Order: sequence, then structure tokens, then C-alpha cells
Amino acid sequence: MSAHKPPFHADTLLAHGGGGFDQATGAVVPPIPVATTFVRDEDYALVSGDHLYSRDDNDLFRKTESLLATLENGADSRLFSSGMAAIAAVARIIKPGGTLMAQSGIYWGTTLFLRQHCARNDIALVECDASDIDTFRDELAITKPDLVWLEVPSNPYLKVADIGKVSDLCKSAGALLAVDATAATPLIMKPLTLGADLVMHAATKALNGHSDLLGGVVTTKDSSSDAWDFICTERRMAGAVMGSFEAWLLLRGLRTLSLRVERMNANAMALAEHLEAHPKIEKVLYPGLPSHKDYATARNQMTGGYGSLMSVQTQGGKDEALKVTGALKLFQRATSLGGTESLIEHRRSIEGETSGIPENLLRLSLGIEHIADLIADFDQALARI
Ligand code: PLP
Repeated sequence: MSAHKPPFHADTLLAHGGGGFDQATGAVVPPIPVATTFVRDEDYALVSGDHLYSRDDNDLFRKTESLLATLENGADSRLFSSGMAAIAAVARIIKPGGTLMAQSGIYWGTTLFLRQHCARNDIALVECDASDIDTFRDELAITKPDLVWLEVPSNPYLKVADIGKVSDLCKSAGALLAVDATAATPLIMKPLTLGADLVMHAATKALNGHSDLLGGVVTTKDSSSDAWDFICTERRMAGAVMGSFEAWLLLRGLRTLSLRVERMNANAMALAEHLEAHPKIEKVLYPGLPSHKDYATARNQMTGGYGSLMSVQTQGGKDEALKVTGALKLFQRATSLGGTESLIEHRRSIEGETSGIPENLLRLSLGIEHIADLIADFDQALARI
């Protein structure tokens, strides 16, 4: 099997961990490269021209990055030591005096980082609800940003900005467009194909899928762009590289990505429909439901499912929401998303009273368990309020 190239489907490439085998041993699973440094010969030439020092690169990074770039219809990818390290590398493209426009109501860690980073570096930060295209168009015309940052679907509101429309506006305004598509995965949404310049994922989530590594990845549409050159140099120089063991775990996790995504999407859809009809639930925020405000956009730009993340608002306030959470026996009360196990969290408790997150909102990440068990767990917990 040749590595990473069509005509293979994404599922096939993933199942083979990107394809190919270890040339030295014939092993179908790659080794974990542990050496940090590589020798030179008597004439001071590198013995293996590709290998100098492991902060620059290694074979396993390249194999994993090549697979991820193919999944995204991208030109090149770079792995980072966490999702936040990947976000930081993209944010640092903007120089002091520049302007960053970020979607509001996205992952709290990203918002906090961007606020601090921009304040410290004399970068103007404008936060705007990019899922409302008229608001976005108006803000863009006023602020003329260098870079626009979207999160699609957004976390925890599951807003779905129209990447194609946002990208057209960004192009006419001369702004780069970067999309955090962590909650979608490249199997159900391809921001680069929709017009974005860069796509980012916290590989910590569904790409790895087993809640046992931190990682991030950025993929570009244009590997000859200045932005991409900056990101690659930044990773090498600033050194936020993924560990080799983590890269190996990630490639192993990716082998089952398509099966996991299929099951997680199906579980999320079924639970969303069940809870929407439940008398103890006030509202379900899931882009696969026709009642979601961005359903039409989601249907257009997501294929094969709507992701494993959703939020629900229980009847009542904080006490009722926490009572339901506390009564769950199968859902684990933990932050994060995209793992094989279903998780739940009360975001208001995490983000604080001033966050504006409704007190009765619970964010769920659906895993790969049997749907009947997940529904039964929620039903028994909701019966307590
Ligand atoms: N982007 C999204 C949408 C996230 O949910 C998270 C973490 O929860 C991150 C980025 C950051 O990833 P990491 O925790 O790997 O730094």
C-alpha cells in the first residue's frame, strides 16, 4: 500500500495508520523513534541527511502529519505538544500593532489565552459572534483584522459559523482565516476545502480519542505561504513539539477514528433527539437538530454527522443541573471531549459566574458506549429533579 494517497478513502488510510510499513524491519506498526540526536560522519556530513536533532522533526511526526494533511485536503501539517501550543503558534503570526478577530463564546482556554497574548503584545483583539454573518461582515469592515479565528462547532454553544461565507469576506479584506475544528474532526468537516487558510485541532480530543495524550495539529492549504513558514519555524525554534510516544499513540488512535466518529455521531444524534423530547430538559444545543439556529449551515458544511459534542439545559437552575450531573452513573464528571467514554461538565462552575454561561447548562461529550445505556443513565438522573 502506498502511503497517504488517493484513490484510498479516508477510512482505509486511517485503518492502516497512514499506510506503508517500517522499511528496516517490515513491521506493520512503526517504531517509536526515541533518539534526540543523530551522528555525522568523518567529513561532518549527516549520516542520514533527514535526521539532525529531534526538535526539528522525526519520521513518526512526518508520517502522522502526512496522514492528517491528507484527511484535511491540506498541503502540510505540523504536530504540537498540545492544542493550546498549536493555537499559540497560529496567534503569534500577528505582529505587535496588528489586529486579531476571534469568534466570541468559544473554548474558554482559547479566549483567555488570546486576551492575555494580545494585551501583552500590543495586538488589538476584537471578539465577535461569527456565526451571525451580518454581525461578522460589519465588524470585519470596521476592524480590518490580520487574522480571523473561528471555532466550528463552538464550545459550549455549538454555534456553526459559515466557513465559506466568512472565508469570502476574509479574502476580500485581506485577512487570514484559521478554524479550530476540534469538535468536528476532519472526517465530517474540512475547513480548508470550505475556504479557510489554516485548520487546527486539539489532537487531545477525538483524533486520538482515548483521553491519554495532549497534542495539537495545524494544517495549511498553502505550504509556500509566509504564515506557514512562520508556523514551521516557530515550532522548530520555540520547541513546542509533540513527544514521540504521544505521536505514536496518536497514530494508533487514528487507526480507529472513522469507527469512533461514526458511533459518537450516532450516539450524540440519538441522545439529542431523546433529550429534546424530555419534559425535564429545557433546551438541547446540537447542530444536528433542526431546532438549532445554525442547522442549515451545519447541514451544508458537515457531512456524515454533526459531532459528539452537545449542551443541554435542564429545567430549573444550577441546583437542578448539578443534581442531574451528580446522579449520573455512566457519564463521567470530567472536562474534555472526544474520548471513547461519555463525559459531562457544568461549564458555569468552570468558567465562573461572570462567564454568561447559563446556570442550567451541561456540556456533554458522547463516547462509543451502547446508546441504550447512555439514555437510561440520563433518564434515571433526570428523574431526580
Ligand atoms: N480547542 C478546543 C475546541 C478545545 O476544546 C480545547 C481543549 O479543551 C483546546 C482547543 C485546547 O486543547 P489542549 O487541551 O490539548 O491544549
